[in-house]
Amino acid sequence: MSLASAIVHQKCPRCRKGNLFVKKNPYALNDALKMPDRCAVCGQDFKMEPGFYIGALWTSFPIVIFLMTSLSIILLVIVKMDLYPFFAVLTLFLFSLQPIIIRLGRAIWISIFVEYDPELGER
Ligand SMILES: [Zn+2]
Repeated sequence: MSLASAIVHQKCPRCRKGNLFVKKNPYALNDALKMPDRCAVCGQDFKMEPGFYIGALWTSFPIVIFLMTSLSIILLVIVKMDLYPFFAVLTLFLFSLQPIIIRLGRAIWISIFVEYDPELGER
């Protein structure tokens, strides 16, 4: 499994097999951000220090900017939507994608600090 695929499927960065989140569904609202303490496959610590995932703001922010820019170009330039409905659509769009964006941000963030172990991945 490649790094990009491990991030998209929210797998442990070390073995790329164990799940980073308890629930697969990002819209299981009460448990959407619940993560196991350790990887069920390789035992990698997922909560390396208190507040570790506060730093994931730095990885989810570029995703938000990318989505905002793309949607703005599509709706304002191509569709030529008026500003008020545009802001309503943009807000709803970003709000509804929040669980997915936050989870992706966390998956990217932990992948920066935990190195992939190919031996674990092959087993
Ligand atoms: Zn693992």
